[in-house]
Amino acid sequence: MGSVDAKSGLVANGIVGQKRMREEVEDDVKINSEVLRKWMHPVEGLANMRREFGEHGGVNMSIEASTTFTVMEPETMSKLFEGKLGPDRDFYIYSRHYNPTVLNLSRQMAAMEGTQAAYCTASGMSAISSVLMQLCSSGDHIVASNRLYGGTHAFLAHFLPRTSNITTSFVDIADMSSVREAIKPSTKVLYFESVSNPQLIVANIPVLSDIAHEKGVQVVVDNTFSPIIISPVRHGADVVVHSMTKFISGSSDVIAGAVCGPADLVSSMMGLHQGALMLLGPTMNPQVAFQLSMRLPHLELRMKEHCDRALIYSRRLKKLGMKVIYPGLEEHPQHNLMKELLNEGYGFGGMLCLDLGTTEKANDLMRHLQNVSLFGLMAVSLGYHDTLMSCSGSSTSSELSKEEQDSAGISEGLVRMSIGFTGSVEKRWSQLQHALASLNLVPDNAKY
Ligand SMILES: *Cc1c(COP(=O)(O)O)cnc(C)c1O
Repeated sequence: MGSVDAKSGLVANGIVGQKRMREEVEDDVKINSEVLRKWMHPVEGLANMRREFGEHGGVNMSIEASTTFTVMEPETMSKLFEGKLGPDRDFYIYSRHYNPTVLNLSRQMAAMEGTQAAYCTASGMSAISSVLMQLCSSGDHIVASNRLYGGTHAFLAHFLPRTSNITTSFVDIADMSSVREAIKPSTKVLYFESVSNPQLIVANIPVLSDIAHEKGVQVVVDNTFSPIIISPVRHGADVVVHSMTKFISGSSDVIAGAVCGPADLVSSMMGLHQGALMLLGPTMNPQVAFQLSMRLPHLELRMKEHCDRALIYSRRLKKLGMKVIYPGLEEHPQHNLMKELLNEGYGFGGMLCLDLGTTEKANDLMRHLQNVSLFGLMAVSLGYHDTLMSCSGSSTSSELSKEEQDSAGISEGLVRMSIGFTGSVEKRWSQLQHALASLNLVPDNAKY
């Protein structure tokens, strides 16, 4: 593997030559060359990042499939374990620790989110669980949104109290006084999603970050629903987590996650004695890292198309008199807030929800859309190139009890759609319209 700054000599001499050269200059080089990054639009950040070449000068970096790495001199090994030599100078120990291919993808994620550092993990849940276990110790407390991804809610409500004596208060994050009141002296983290699953409630990241920081609490934001669209760190968040399984992958073929944040946090997560990534071991496979790093360059194009289509369909559905939830509609409670948070050039996300009132109607519509009109697929998850549909109350939010669902405002007839970009806009619309008309789901007064 080479890079722009070390390319001469490297490609000719190979990695061995490079390691010799680097060991010789070791004492002249500052170990931590990481500087605080100024926030940049994600697309600019990605354009600005250091470019890795393949081992033979390939335009794509090589997949470093090795679990273990050689040293030229035995003394080097102890320097590696003491942390005196590390990945910033192309020295690696073992792939549960840093791996070059995973690190390259992680640099892309840091560039996209505008954080000092990042590291990728085997799943979104492992990114979330690892960072929370790193930031909190036994006896600590978390304040979290009451509208979270079901798995995250279960982790906070049930798993952390049982295994780690870490407790969580769930609050409505739109109610700033209840957020403030929930923060105790033992609170370490304020946790929420930039756009929440499933009702697409947008978090007021700047105000929430101010409240947390006043009390010395760190802000961790799950940005899975809005990569590139919203940059939480730009608005004051400290740490961003992703399920890369969704929009970032875009093909519903790999499970993956990332933690993006300050360099000292990421390196503490890799610590040999106390690091959650090193010790819990949710390691991303370098083959997966390679695949994902090939997809990040067109994430922005895909996000634009997801956003454009979701806006078109939500406007047309509304015109038919349907109950539709989409932050791009003016009547959405956080429409103006999201407008302020958006990065330039992007719309309001690729997710929309249609509230049909009852589970029966929701199921009828999804069955028709998949099996008759071919509009989309009945499946959980999001960010796929085709449209995915699920009834949230009986699927992704089913970890919540009936009372918890009621208090989170999840109606039983809510169909969540992740709008895809295959097929023409008009062809897909005619499929959707056909299903609604066939099932008599359009209110009587609507004409089309
Ligand atoms: C899917 C999802 C997760 C969990 O990610 P995995 O990659 O499935 O582990 C976390 N948060 C949100 C918002 C999600 O949609």
